[in-house]
Amino acid sequence: MKRVGVLSLQGDFAAHGEALRRAGAEPVYVRHAAELAGLDGLVIPGGESTTMLKLLRYDCLWAPLAEFARRKPVFGTCAGAILMASEVTAPEQESLGLMDIAVERNGYGRQVDSRVTLVEPDADFERRTAPGPIEAVFIRAPIIRRVGAGAKVLARYGGDPVLVEQGPHLAATFHPELTRDVRVHRLFLEKL
Ligand code: GLN
Repeated sequence: MKRVGVLSLQGDFAAHGEALRRAGAEPVYVRHAAELAGLDGLVIPGGESTTMLKLLRYDCLWAPLAEFARRKPVFGTCAGAILMASEVTAPEQESLGLMDIAVERNGYGRQVDSRVTLVEPDADFERRTAPGPIEAVFIRAPIIRRVGAGAKVLARYGGDPVLVEQGPHLAATFHPELTRDVRVHRLFLEKL
């Protein structure tokens, strides 16, 4: 069974652990760099990206995490996707730059900042998992404003990319760990 780390400094790491279990992997809650050893991949959950940034530095996890990502797949959701981006705005902040995407924090604005909706996956996502729309929970989500040539959009909402893959890595602006549909987590496990 694949052992997948879940960065557990802050945010909804427990829900990701349960989703990984439902998808057929063993979750390992990561709080210290040493716990990254031997893992097949890592999930960076949703939460508050600024807080996570501070804790990553405080806990000396920044460099070990960047090093891990050079060897193994990383899947970031919402705040996790913000940390993985190459460019962050509203406001600008540091990020790991694991994927060539530009994200605008809280990009859906105040009026409609959180919702549950259906998003349309592309044919490749459906072929690799199963057909049908994805139920997507958005919570003060970032908008992906630019996707680099090396990255591939796997699902969109209202024309904007919401699930993007680049090489081994995967980023979602919604929260697949909060619904019963485990296809997004299964897709990530396929990459390990
Ligand atoms: N708005 C948060 C941020 O900018 C992300 C929200 C989330 O992860 N659900 O970090």
